[in-house]
Amino acid sequence: RSARGRLALTYLSIIMLMSIGFSVVFYYTSSEQLSRQLPPQSFYAEVLKPAGFNLDVDPFSFLRERIQEGRSVLLLRLILLNFFALFVGSLLSYYLARRALAPLEEVIEAQSQFVSDASHELRTPMTAIQTTNEVALRKPKLSLAEAKQIIKHNGEDIMKLKALSDGLLRLATKTVSKPIMETVSTQEVVTEAVNQIMQAALAKKVSVNDQVPDIKVSANAGSLAQVIVILLDNAIKYSPAKSTISLRGHSKGKFAYLSVKDQGIGIPAKDLPHIFKRFYRSDRSRSKENYEGYGLGLSIADKLMRQSRGEILVTSQLNKGSTFTLKLLRK
Ligand code: ADP
Repeated sequence: RSARGRLALTYLSIIMLMSIGFSVVFYYTSSEQLSRQLPPQSFYAEVLKPAGFNLDVDPFSFLRERIQEGRSVLLLRLILLNFFALFVGSLLSYYLARRALAPLEEVIEAQSQFVSDASHELRTPMTAIQTTNEVALRKPKLSLAEAKQIIKHNGEDIMKLKALSDGLLRLATKTVSKPIMETVSTQEVVTEAVNQIMQAALAKKVSVNDQVPDIKVSANAGSLAQVIVILLDNAIKYSPAKSTISLRGHSKGKFAYLSVKDQGIGIPAKDLPHIFKRFYRSDRSRSKENYEGYGLGLSIADKLMRQSRGEILVTSQLNKGSTFTLKLLRK
């Protein structure tokens, strides 16, 4: 609020400085031009006096008065104009300051929301570690098996913390240089991503059907692979065992489309507009099955896709499955 006031005051000062400056210049120029209506002193001596005019009474006094009157009117109008400029300028400055600061305020708001969400998420596994340790410390005796169990629990929580901080870091780091755009083969990048998630898919007995044709797209190969891994990870996580994940691709006009389709729990329509927000998780993924996650994957994917000048589209049907489609520029 105070920044807004200060900025508005700066704008107003500039407006008023210009308005007063112009008025002063205008006043002096105009009054100089008005004075030129009167004949010069030489005219009295060289023309009027020899012609026998009585110069005790100024023959041009009426003109002198009119000029003086003109100056006063001009001065009054300029003063009024400046008051008007002050009034309009104040409103304009306030409006402009608000407009100029609005995007900045939004960024600050989002940033502090991010920090508070992140701290909140970090607290949960840390509290779990602390509680496990305290309980263990209070026990008079600890068997080797119990100690191992505690270390295992803590290790799991540390893994969660690590995954979370990795995600946060990926979201927070601003890529100083833009990622290099290269010609990427969809087939190659999809195969690389599928290899990375194969273990998880096998563990859950989910099969991956990859029929992506070879289309050349303009993207950053590393980022694109990361995005596909995130989508595949989710597809596995939110799908029942023995279901199939299909990977398809086609091109249309300037664009290429890569889709990851699962037969999982689906996403309620009300959640669809929010799933790319940081920390957003559908209620369904928090309840019942208790799918692990922090709601960071899709926001990271979205960020990476934007960097590659692409887009992520999503359609979903509850209990039938979801399809995430990457829209990329063809090379
Ligand atoms: P996370 O999976 O860690 O919760 P994401 O950002 O990857 O975070 O996803 C956000 C939310 O979108 C998830 O919590 C889930 O509700 C929903 N979602 C994402 N992918 C799928 C999917 N394939 N099927 C069903 N729901 C999904």
